[in-house]
Amino acid sequence: MMYPVKPVRTLMGRLDHDADLLEALTHICREERIQLGRIEALGAVKKAALGYYDQEKKLYRSFEIDRQLEILNLVGNISLKEGEPFVHAHVTLGDDEGRSYGGHLIAGTPIFACEAIIQVYEGPALRREVEPVTGLPLWVTLN
Ligand code: ZN
Repeated sequence: MMYPVKPVRTLMGRLDHDADLLEALTHICREERIQLGRIEALGAVKKAALGYYDQEKKLYRSFEIDRQLEILNLVGNISLKEGEPFVHAHVTLGDDEGRSYGGHLIAGTPIFACEAIIQVYEGPALRREVEPVTGLPLWVTLN
Protein backbone atom coordinates (compact mmCIF):
# COMPACT_ATOMS: atom_id res chain seq x y z
CA MET A 1 0.00 0.00 0.00
CA MET A 2 1.33 3.39 -1.00
CA TYR A 3 0.22 6.72 0.42
CA PRO A 4 0.49 10.24 -0.97
CA VAL A 5 2.84 12.53 0.95
CA LYS A 6 3.54 16.20 0.41
CA PRO A 7 6.96 17.84 0.83
CA VAL A 8 6.62 20.72 3.28
CA ARG A 9 10.14 21.62 4.39
CA THR A 10 13.75 20.77 3.56
CA LEU A 11 16.64 20.98 6.01
CA MET A 12 20.22 21.01 4.82
CA GLY A 13 23.39 21.10 6.88
CA ARG A 14 26.55 19.59 8.21
CA LEU A 15 26.69 17.05 11.02
CA ASP A 16 29.28 17.30 13.80
CA HIS A 17 32.71 15.71 13.59
CA ASP A 18 32.90 12.63 15.86
CA ALA A 19 29.13 12.42 16.37
CA ASP A 20 27.55 9.04 15.72
CA LEU A 21 25.95 9.14 12.27
CA LEU A 22 22.66 7.39 13.11
CA GLU A 23 22.30 9.12 16.47
CA ALA A 24 22.98 12.56 14.95
CA LEU A 25 20.28 12.04 12.30
CA THR A 26 17.82 10.71 14.89
CA HIS A 27 18.57 13.65 17.19
CA ILE A 28 17.76 16.19 14.45
CA CYS A 29 14.49 14.40 13.64
CA ARG A 30 13.43 14.41 17.28
CA GLU A 31 14.48 18.05 17.84
CA GLU A 32 12.61 19.14 14.72
CA ARG A 33 9.66 16.82 15.49
CA ILE A 34 9.86 15.22 12.06
CA GLN A 35 7.45 12.29 11.80
CA LEU A 36 7.63 11.63 8.09
CA GLY A 37 10.45 12.26 5.68
CA ARG A 38 13.47 11.18 3.72
CA ILE A 39 17.20 11.64 4.24
CA GLU A 40 20.18 11.73 1.96
CA ALA A 41 23.78 12.32 2.94
CA LEU A 42 27.38 12.04 1.85
CA GLY A 43 30.74 12.57 3.49
CA ALA A 44 33.14 10.33 5.35
CA VAL A 45 33.23 8.21 8.49
CA LYS A 46 36.11 7.12 10.73
CA LYS A 47 34.80 3.54 10.83
CA ALA A 48 31.47 1.86 10.31
CA ALA A 49 28.99 -0.42 12.05
CA LEU A 50 26.42 -1.99 9.77
CA GLY A 51 23.65 -4.53 9.98
CA TYR A 52 22.51 -7.26 7.65
CA TYR A 53 19.12 -8.91 8.10
CA ASP A 54 19.25 -12.69 8.12
CA GLN A 55 15.93 -13.61 6.46
CA GLU A 56 15.97 -17.22 7.67
CA LYS A 57 16.78 -16.51 11.30
CA LYS A 58 14.84 -13.22 11.26
CA LEU A 59 17.47 -11.25 13.07
CA TYR A 60 20.02 -8.58 12.32
CA ARG A 61 23.65 -9.57 12.21
CA SER A 62 26.07 -6.70 12.67
CA PHE A 63 29.60 -6.19 11.46
CA GLU A 64 32.21 -3.47 11.72
CA ILE A 65 34.62 -2.03 9.22
CA ASP A 66 37.40 -0.56 11.30
CA ARG A 67 38.86 2.07 8.99
CA GLN A 68 38.07 5.38 7.35
CA LEU A 69 35.55 5.27 4.53
CA GLU A 70 33.74 7.68 2.24
CA ILE A 71 29.97 7.87 2.54
CA LEU A 72 29.19 7.37 -1.13
CA ASN A 73 25.50 7.39 -0.45
CA LEU A 74 23.17 7.35 2.50
CA VAL A 75 19.47 7.03 1.93
CA GLY A 76 16.92 6.84 4.69
CA ASN A 77 13.39 7.45 5.79
CA ILE A 78 11.77 8.85 8.89
CA SER A 79 8.62 7.48 10.47
CA LEU A 80 7.34 6.68 13.94
CA LYS A 81 8.40 3.76 16.09
CA GLU A 82 7.01 3.46 19.60
CA GLY A 83 5.67 7.01 19.22
CA GLU A 84 9.07 8.58 18.48
CA PRO A 85 10.66 9.73 15.22
CA PHE A 86 12.73 6.82 13.93
CA VAL A 87 15.40 6.85 11.22
CA HIS A 88 15.89 3.84 8.96
CA ALA A 89 19.00 4.36 6.83
CA HIS A 90 21.19 2.34 4.50
CA VAL A 91 24.69 3.38 3.45
CA THR A 92 27.14 2.60 0.71
CA LEU A 93 30.71 3.25 1.85
CA GLY A 94 33.85 3.37 -0.26
CA ASP A 95 37.48 2.59 0.57
CA ASP A 96 40.79 3.91 -0.80
CA GLU A 97 40.70 1.53 -3.75
CA GLY A 98 37.15 2.30 -4.79
CA ARG A 99 35.68 -0.84 -3.29
CA SER A 100 32.30 -0.40 -1.70
CA TYR A 101 30.59 -1.88 1.31
CA GLY A 102 27.08 -1.36 2.45
CA GLY A 103 24.33 -2.20 4.84
CA HIS A 104 21.74 -1.11 7.33
CA LEU A 105 23.18 1.72 9.40
CA ILE A 106 23.47 1.07 13.13
CA ALA A 107 25.02 3.01 15.99
CA GLY A 108 28.82 2.85 16.09
CA THR A 109 29.66 4.87 12.99
CA PRO A 110 31.55 8.05 13.97
CA ILE A 111 31.38 10.93 11.51
CA PHE A 112 34.49 12.46 10.01
CA ALA A 113 32.44 14.88 7.92
CA CYS A 114 28.85 14.66 6.72
CA GLU A 115 26.54 16.80 4.62
CA ALA A 116 22.88 15.88 4.98
CA ILE A 117 19.57 16.86 3.46
CA ILE A 118 16.31 16.03 5.19
CA GLN A 119 13.06 16.35 3.31
CA VAL A 120 10.06 16.67 5.62
CA TYR A 121 6.71 15.33 4.43
CA GLU A 122 3.13 15.86 5.44
CA GLY A 123 0.94 12.79 5.09
CA PRO A 124 -0.55 9.82 6.88
CA ALA A 125 1.33 8.89 10.03
CA LEU A 126 3.35 5.79 9.24
CA ARG A 127 4.40 3.85 12.29
CA ARG A 128 6.37 0.64 12.60
CA GLU A 129 5.00 -2.59 13.99
CA VAL A 130 6.55 -6.04 13.85
CA GLU A 131 5.18 -7.87 10.83
CA PRO A 132 5.13 -11.67 11.39
CA VAL A 133 6.12 -12.91 7.91
CA THR A 134 9.39 -10.95 7.80
CA GLY A 135 9.92 -10.40 11.52
CA LEU A 136 10.70 -6.78 10.69
CA PRO A 137 9.14 -3.62 12.15
CA LEU A 138 7.32 -2.52 8.99
CA TRP A 139 4.93 0.34 8.30
CA VAL A 140 1.28 0.41 9.20
CA THR A 141 -0.87 3.56 9.09
CA LEU A 142 -2.53 5.23 12.02
CA ASN A 143 -5.50 6.44 9.96
ZN1 ZN B 1 17.41 -1.59 6.89
